[in-house]
Amino acid sequence: MATLAIPDFGDEGSGANARASRTRTGSDAGTRASRRQRRLGWKGALHRSSTYFRCAPDSNPESGFFLRGIENMTLHDKFGRQITDLRISVTDRCNFRCIYCRSADPENYQEHDKILSWAELERLGRVFHGLGIRKVRVTGGEPLVRPGVERFIASMSETGFPDLSMTTNGHLLAERCDGLIAAGLKRINISLDSLNAVKFEKITRTKTFSSVMAGIDAAQNSVLGPAKINAVLVRGFNDDEVEAFAEFARQRGVIMRFIEFMPLDADRHWSRELMVPASEIHARIHARWPLVQIPHEASETARKYRFVDGAPGEIGLIAPVTQPFCGHCSRIRLTADGKLRTCLFSKEDHDLRGLLRENASDEDLGIYVRSVVSEKEQGHRINEPDFRPPSRTMVFIGG
Ligand code: SAM
Repeated sequence: MATLAIPDFGDEGSGANARASRTRTGSDAGTRASRRQRRLGWKGALHRSSTYFRCAPDSNPESGFFLRGIENMTLHDKFGRQITDLRISVTDRCNFRCIYCRSADPENYQEHDKILSWAELERLGRVFHGLGIRKVRVTGGEPLVRPGVERFIASMSETGFPDLSMTTNGHLLAERCDGLIAAGLKRINISLDSLNAVKFEKITRTKTFSSVMAGIDAAQNSVLGPAKINAVLVRGFNDDEVEAFAEFARQRGVIMRFIEFMPLDADRHWSRELMVPASEIHARIHARWPLVQIPHEASETARKYRFVDGAPGEIGLIAPVTQPFCGHCSRIRLTADGKLRTCLFSKEDHDLRGLLRENASDEDLGIYVRSVVSEKEQGHRINEPDFRPPSRTMVFIGG
């Protein structure tokens, strides 16, 4: 068997990684705004959109679509999928530098004025609620590094989102958990890529293992429990910990989720050989502690399992590479700099920040969003021969 070449993911610093990341990821100039928006300007794009939606099946021309406002609309794409789930990245900054995610270079952060203000995010939240979004996940970057995130969650809760969750690396969670719950947070996902402190710190390029474990404890002992713990396995780094993570689920009663490594890393080291397929993880856990599948909603990303012997905890397998679930996708994403993305692997961004800052009305925003969503990609194409990773990497999209 050929030996696997493990890439040198490098340390903190601003070497070749940083330069590569700058050209390929965050800066405004480096991202591709919607071609249509660039060609027509947003008013032109909107005009096209409104012409299209005057004829859309769920708008009623008789009742005067434009007078009705955007309340009670829903978002559908041309493949018949309803979009009910929005991931909002509130910052592109992160206090971790996970090897499979971002390059080690804070120089890539965008200027504050390029990032949507809380007021702009709150307004968009209301518009999306009017368009039928029901699940909001607050993410980043690392959402807890942006001051004011609790107030934002409170505002989303007041807007009426029944399902309000956050994805965090957990480092600042222990001291923030009560405030987040008081603000209305309902669920939490915490990333944890190793149970070994030394390895954890090598993967995240930080010294934070004990604070993350404290964050997990805080969540687990609160109404947010059982917490979902996300691990991305990279062959040669942490794939020896599959059974240890399963044991962690059994001992702590957490929902342990394994996410396949996707080609969204800033350093472009991703390869199929480095990704650990969900089938392998399932086989290894099942051999030690037999698993039985639990029913899941079609649009859920994870296939869920419990332990046959009745132990607490749950296993979730998220296999976007080997078992894509695009056919039931109900998600869209809003980046910290106000770009709407209809797929993690979209080739185009759609600029809501521009519309907001050029005084578009809520109705304009709603019509534009509907037109963008109607063109949502059928699938991510990772397994197609001509696949190219998107210009934005995970940290600049929001996971
Ligand atoms: N800072 C937060 C955190 O660490 O959870 C939220 C942002 S992070 C980008 C969201 C999720 O994306 C994390 O669970 C992380 O493990 C996952 N992620 C990042 N890069 C990934 C990649 N290349 N493939 C698969 N998952 C990735």
